Amino acid sequence: MGDKKQKALREPMPKQKVKERIKNFNEVALGYTEEQARKEAERCLQCPKPLCVKGCPVDINIPEFIKLIVEGKYIEAANKIKEDDILPRMTGRVCPQEDQCEAQCVLGLKGNPIAIGRLERFVSDYEASNSEIQVPAILAKKNKKVAVVGSGPAGLTVAADCARMGYEVKIFEALHKPGGVLAYGIPEFRLPKEIVGREVETLKKMGVELECNVIIGKTITVKQLFEEGYDAIFLGLGAGLPRFLGVEGENLLGIYSANEFLTRINLMKAYKFPEYDTPINVGKKVAVVGGGNVAMDSARSAIRLGAKEVHIVYRRSRQEMPARDEEIENAEEEGVIFDLLVNPVEFTGDEKGWVKAIRLIKMELGEPDDSGRRRPVPIKGSEFVYDVDTVVVAIGQKANPILLDATPGIKKNKWGYIDADGETGKTSMKGVFAGGDIVTGEATVIAAMGAGRKAARAIDEYLKNGKW
Ligand code: FAD
Ligand code: SF4
Repeated sequence: MGDKKQKALREPMPKQKVKERIKNFNEVALGYTEEQARKEAERCLQCPKPLCVKGCPVDINIPEFIKLIVEGKYIEAANKIKEDDILPRMTGRVCPQEDQCEAQCVLGLKGNPIAIGRLERFVSDYEASNSEIQVPAILAKKNKKVAVVGSGPAGLTVAADCARMGYEVKIFEALHKPGGVLAYGIPEFRLPKEIVGREVETLKKMGVELECNVIIGKTITVKQLFEEGYDAIFLGLGAGLPRFLGVEGENLLGIYSANEFLTRINLMKAYKFPEYDTPINVGKKVAVVGGGNVAMDSARSAIRLGAKEVHIVYRRSRQEMPARDEEIENAEEEGVIFDLLVNPVEFTGDEKGWVKAIRLIKMELGEPDDSGRRRPVPIKGSEFVYDVDTVVVAIGQKANPILLDATPGIKKNKWGYIDADGETGKTSMKGVFAGGDIVTGEATVIAAMGAGRKAARAIDEYLKNGKW
């Protein structure tokens, strides 16, 4: 039996056809059918010491939920996942499973790990379409108030866990919609916004209050939150400030940070202009600088906005690209051109100040740097130029300083992120906790959720015994 299971191949993910999907923003991956999910789940060996769980940052009981799928108990399987991961519809879609649980699965040795993420997505979608929003049991009210700043995955997790423990919770969000990167960064074709909306609805049904358009540190300060009667504050601010290349001509019109580009598309629905009033015109040729998920999302969005030619400009080789393999493959299928081992040195513009060309230099790989990846080194005399209509700079984000500048009591580390304890999220200011990208720098949705869960436990501990 075991042998037969090992020989079976991983079930492929049904996807929208390339020709169709490049003309719409609908989700590309269509999800397993029930039959496919059962077939894939039946391949699982139910290892007594499951390595897959070791690879999961929040220790989901993977073999157990897969067993429930084999038994046809899909809602029970979704509930099993939710014991450790409150947002499985999102993590099933965007977690880098190939580097986490699936990388550890024993069947991976033969190149066919169980498609754990796809199964997670199947059961959580099944649960969402076959049952009403389920509000988890809430413990007796504790008459203590928790303020959560930021509504990304870290903030949503803290809010859910603290509400479950009986605390009065309010989320403050700077943007006009909740969800953090899930709402403004990751495009609809990878993560439908209806999913984020449903999770926020669940929180509201649990009694969590949400106020958007409030910048803590500007509209109201951390000190004022304490004065208003909050007993603990969680900062899940993310890393939303774009980094730039610092090269000549970067201020020209038509050069966007990936943040602005994706926010216009996702949050302001620029792709539905004029139905929505934010326009975006990418022209014929677009260059996206960077090699991570943000760059792939920008390039694939540009294709959907009608660009004829979209280039990824990346200074290392494909092997070092931090984007998920699946997203690199999707980008390639959709016609994105990869210009590898090149780096921009200058942008030039027309007489009206719009970008019209990009000057690049070829690179070669040298010794590994701090990140363990081989350092790109410019090759002298190898510069060349090509014309572009639009450039998107997607080379990373850093901490937004607004709240931290207004709250000097909160210690920062040398990179400008919050210096918080990795196990509890405690900061240098009494009663203030932090987690997610604002502590670690850009990471993953599941890592932010894991940090939120730990911080919620520590907040509970602190509010019970007052010890800091
Ligand atoms: P965020 O999601 O950034 O949320 C922070 C929230 O806090 C924001 O809504 C912000 O507006 C709000 N805020 C900030 N300052 C204030 C303030 N002063 N007052 C009030 N509100 C404030 N990860 C994956 O695992 N898989 C992927 O495929 C993936 N793709 C990505 C694609 C893109 C385009 C981007 C940008 C990131 C991607 N990531 C991905 C990374 C992942 O989204 C982040 O690691 C994660 O969202 C971090 O969660 P967070 O809760 O810490 O912060
Ligand atoms: Fe199943 Fe793979 Fe986990 Fe073993 S390691 S229990 S085969 S998913």
